[in-house]
Amino acid sequence: MPETTDNARKIIVVGGVAGGMSAATRLRRLDEDAHITVLERSGHVSFANCGLPYHVGGVIEKRSALLLQTPESLGARFGLDVRVGTEALSIDRERKVVRVRTLATGAEEDLPYDALVLSPGARPVRPPIPGIERALALRDVEDTDAMVAAVADAQGIEARGFDDEEPEPTSAVVIGGGFIGVEMAENLVHRGLHVALVEATPQVMAPLDPEMVAPVHDALRRAGVDLHLGRSVTVIGDHDVTLSDGTVLPAAVVVASIGVRPDTSLAEGAGLRIGPRGGIWVDEQLRTSDPHIYAVGDAVEKVDGLSHEASLVPLANTANLQGRRVADVIAGLPGSDRHVLGTAIVGVMGLQVAATGWNEKRLRAAGRPYRAIHTHPASHATYYPGAATMALKLLVDPETDRILGAQGVGREGVDKRIDVIATAMTGGLSASALAGLELAYAPQFGSAKDPINMLGHIADNLRTGIAVEIQWDELADAMTAGAALVDVRTPAEFAKGGIPGALNIPVDDLRDRLDEVPPGPVVVHCAVGLRGHVAARILRQRGWDDVRNLSGGYTTWKAGTGA
Ligand code: FAD
Repeated sequence: MPETTDNARKIIVVGGVAGGMSAATRLRRLDEDAHITVLERSGHVSFANCGLPYHVGGVIEKRSALLLQTPESLGARFGLDVRVGTEALSIDRERKVVRVRTLATGAEEDLPYDALVLSPGARPVRPPIPGIERALALRDVEDTDAMVAAVADAQGIEARGFDDEEPEPTSAVVIGGGFIGVEMAENLVHRGLHVALVEATPQVMAPLDPEMVAPVHDALRRAGVDLHLGRSVTVIGDHDVTLSDGTVLPAAVVVASIGVRPDTSLAEGAGLRIGPRGGIWVDEQLRTSDPHIYAVGDAVEKVDGLSHEASLVPLANTANLQGRRVADVIAGLPGSDRHVLGTAIVGVMGLQVAATGWNEKRLRAAGRPYRAIHTHPASHATYYPGAATMALKLLVDPETDRILGAQGVGREGVDKRIDVIATAMTGGLSASALAGLELAYAPQFGSAKDPINMLGHIADNLRTGIAVEIQWDELADAMTAGAALVDVRTPAEFAKGGIPGALNIPVDDLRDRLDEVPPGPVVVHCAVGLRGHVAARILRQRGWDDVRNLSGGYTTWKAGTGA
């Protein structure tokens, strides 16, 4: 510990993981004299929450790999007084003290503070389902140990003896298809369990729109996950789980990943203001309603980057950024907290699934005007081995050309495309400006016209009216209203499956077969949208004034309709 004087500033941080530890270490770098105490209820600090599912799955083999720091290492490098197994019980704002309990002994004491930072995170939601006490949740290292032991027990092998013994076949039910739910399903499959995933809504991964999530459902099913969508768990028995449609699933292990709620217990007990979304309210300087108490991370409400309304975004990046930012504020540096986009990525059975900003469901529900763009580009130049097709979706404000959100699903290259779009959104670039971005290219990494540039070209064509698109879920109505559908793929592609009612005229033959195209409104489509665009341009310049290209082509239509 550093030498402290009686008048050294006393800073207490509650929660010693993402936000809390970022705050404490940055504070030390800014103030060598302050006395900084970190209180952490669990037995570990600075552990890798995001790696926990992968230790259950055996991908991260060594438990010690999850433990990035210890109280001793943090004391040595940063002079922090880190107390694990220590719970902050209450805050006396009048006296500016935190009541703490050492869990091993039960001893309690009051610790005074000049500034207090709350980073208590979020708690797993535990709905009142009969038998819920048998369901395991994953929040910290102790939960991970319990889950590893439960899986080993169900498989009839000794905990941590996985490598040496042949596991017995057994089953698990994962409740909830959010980020952690799909990660848990993947990891339990990896462990050799038969896994059923139950999700109350019609799709997993809520940040994705329905046509984008179809490949994720396919990947889970192909990996052997028994998907039960649109159904909820009504009873958790000793060895099984009953669903709302009466299905009974065997379940030696039950994992509940139903979502998280801000942990506001300490803040509420201290009478701090709670915001409209149920998180701790903070201002732009991350101050709570008490000017001496700050809060960061999953426990607080953030400001949404589009609506500027209160938002709950429980992600590690935001928690870490806020932790650093709050240290700056306490140290008197200028600046303010930034608004959030909720940029996130998850791996699902070899797929990268990523999103940023708002999705179409949310834009539609909010009544916000938007334009959707779908593409299916290759992750890198197709002539170089190993290219994989991805699905990208961009949502654009049709009046301002502002980027509202994006989603991507594919085996490779999705991560960097979503990150570029998130960067563009943060920097205020328009959708059309994506066309002009100068991105690193060699055939094994991308394309000379990167998928990001292509999104920009499409956005620009739509903005200027050079192209007009129709969405997969608008097609049936357009055809009922009399639009002709022309499939411009090759006859071989057409023979393998197409949209009912389509007339097949390959794009390369179109100029010679214009007399076959009906004179009224026309929708053209190809496999992914590119040849459709070429065909639409031919028709537009040959006198058809109502020509629309199907966004994302047959691939998006098929994913959206499930045909
Ligand atoms: P936490 O990191 O949760 O830390 C809060 C700590 O406060 C806890 O350790 C808790 O024990 C302690 N605490 C609470 N109350 C008290 C008290 N009264 N006294 C003392 N200590 C207290 N995010 C991503 O962006 N990407 C991912 O891939 C990802 N994967 C995840 C996987 C799992 C299994 C989990 C659980 C989370 C994952 N997250 C991921 C979310 C990410 O971990 C959180 O957003 C982030 O850790 C939040 O930081 P925080 O500081 O707010 O809370």
